[in-house]
Amino acid sequence: MILVSACLLGLRCCYNGCNNTNQSVLDLRKKYILVPVCPEQLGGLQTPRPPSFFIEGDGSQTLQGIDNLKNNKNENVSSLFRRGAEDALKICQLLNIKTAILKERSPSCGTHYIYLKEKLTKGMGVTASILKSNDIRVMSENDIRRLDERKN
Ligand code: SF4
Repeated sequence: MILVSACLLGLRCCYNGCNNTNQSVLDLRKKYILVPVCPEQLGGLQTPRPPSFFIEGDGSQTLQGIDNLKNNKNENVSSLFRRGAEDALKICQLLNIKTAILKERSPSCGTHYIYLKEKLTKGMGVTASILKSNDIRVMSENDIRRLDERKN
């Protein structure tokens, strides 16, 4: 069983009401049970919704209680992102899921890159960060060729 960013599987949960369907991720259904989750919707954000970005740091700071996420209406949305991340973790724990494939560059799901203001920067989204710190293997849609490699 693998937790997957719901937008990668075709669900229209992106901030603009679209999806990020990725055929390589969808093809994994032949071998794995894929569990779609959108942490931003879980956290209580609407779809469509204004896009959000970090004003400092990344998701690891958000998890420490720093309110570093705003949307483009200047509203602080950090607590909703935390809530969604916590519930995504809860789903992994309920189903004993040990691997997640998450959409790169998202403030929730980014595993290597996030947007710091408007600049693409190295860092992790809030959900990627909470999963990783709870010993769940996180990878982006660009990393799935490594899926069968041993975790180390
Ligand atoms: S929060 Fe994650 S699953 Fe939801 S739309 Fe953004 S990238 Fe996709």
